Amino acid sequence: MKRICVYCGSSSSAVPIYSEAAQAFAVELVEREIGLVYGGAKGGVMGSLADAVLEAGGNVTGVIPETILDTEEPHPGLTELRTTESKDKRKQRMTELADGFVALPGGIGTQEEILQSLGRAKHGEHHDPCGFLNVDGYYDSLVEFFDNANMEGFISPEQRELVLVAETPSELLDTFEQYESPIV
Ligand code: AMP
Repeated sequence: MKRICVYCGSSSSAVPIYSEAAQAFAVELVEREIGLVYGGAKGGVMGSLADAVLEAGGNVTGVIPETILDTEEPHPGLTELRTTESKDKRKQRMTELADGFVALPGGIGTQEEILQSLGRAKHGEHHDPCGFLNVDGYYDSLVEFFDNANMEGFISPEQRELVLVAETPSELLDTFEQYESPIV
């Protein structure tokens, strides 16, 4: 894997355990020589993640929409910062740049992004792994939702297999490296 796209919270109010988890994920990426693609912001869990990759000597590409540059300060020290016309174009660009998609803990934006990556995987538009880093049980209720949707017949067994979940960065990236898409 060359680059992984990470979606995560932009809020600076999240409790510190999540930034610490982002830093641990960053170290694991750099050790495996995998570059980071992310939303380009300076603050929140996103900023902690980018800082930690850069500090460990890794490569970071930020992709930020022009429309939020007034309210969101882009990270000033990235390896590369790309701008897009809109948030939709950002999601598209991030998808093109990466060969794996991870959600660290985050809010609505994070869920929107990882669900789009999963939706594209479901339709066979890409065959790259999509997973959640389940820090301190943050995603337990979402995993329960996917299991229930599978039991109720809304998500097929193959589609359920698209949703990778791990408790630690190394476990998640090991799973990514061995991944074969269940969707033909
Ligand atoms: P949220 O989880 O709602 O904090 O949204 C963060 C995620 O959505 C990140 O992965 C970003 O790519 C994207 N995003 C949404 N809002 C912003 C913002 N104001 N600044 C930077 N990225 C954002």
